[in-house]
Amino acid sequence: MNQYHYHNSKKKRKDPLGIVLALLLLAVAILLIVYFVRSKSPASPETGDQPALSQQTTTDPQASSSETPSRPLPSTEVQTTPVTTAAPTTGPATDENAWKLLLVNADHPLPEGFTVELKALRNGHHVDERIYPELQQMFDDARSAGIYPLINESFRTAERQQQILDKYIAKYEAAGMSHDDAVTKALTIVAVPGTSEHQLGLALDIIAEYDSDNNPTWNWLQQNCWRYGFILRYPKGKEEITGIDYEPWHFRYVGVPTAEEITESGLCLEEYLEKLNH
Ligand SMILES: [Zn+2]
Repeated sequence: MNQYHYHNSKKKRKDPLGIVLALLLLAVAILLIVYFVRSKSPASPETGDQPALSQQTTTDPQASSSETPSRPLPSTEVQTTPVTTAAPTTGPATDENAWKLLLVNADHPLPEGFTVELKALRNGHHVDERIYPELQQMFDDARSAGIYPLINESFRTAERQQQILDKYIAKYEAAGMSHDDAVTKALTIVAVPGTSEHQLGLALDIIAEYDSDNNPTWNWLQQNCWRYGFILRYPKGKEEITGIDYEPWHFRYVGVPTAEEITESGLCLEEYLEKLNH
């Protein structure tokens, strides 16, 4: 019992020490574990954060010095995008309409170096390829309505325009006119090369069975062409402005919105553009 007591008391004495030691060890172990775990597991987030932070810090402090490489990159990107979108929106958007609204007449010759991508039609005629789908639709719809338009003139090169002019001059000279008179007379009918809308590939002359204002083909086209982006280019009563006699057969592509506006307003292209630019 004594022994037990001794033992017991010894144990009792030993126990607090052991417990303290154990607690200390445990505490140390816990601290070590906590430290180890902390230093390891946050490592990834911290590494993730720190580079970001350090990048930001590098970017920001450097921003003053290295602002040039870090900022300009995004700002160039940002600028490039808006500028590219802005330029296309302003440029190409304007350009996109520009080709449709290009004015060609005696006072406005074809722009220098003008080129156009042509689409060959089955009848051997050529037009600006961009107007082909609507032109085809217009002819398809006309046929559905019992109208069969035939193209007499479409895209012309400057050479072809000159040939036509020369033919008329020769014709009037043959009829007894002086050369100057023949040229003057021919120029009332044929445009000087470089000033004919036909060189744009946007104009069409449509043959009619008989030459009359009440010709069903011209009537149908004059009433419906705007739906396909075309206008009657040289209307009656606008000869002074267009410089061209009334031509019930000559249709010009300008795009649907413009064709609708021009048709509704009764303006000719010159008047419409004048109004648009003021
Ligand atoms: Zn024509």
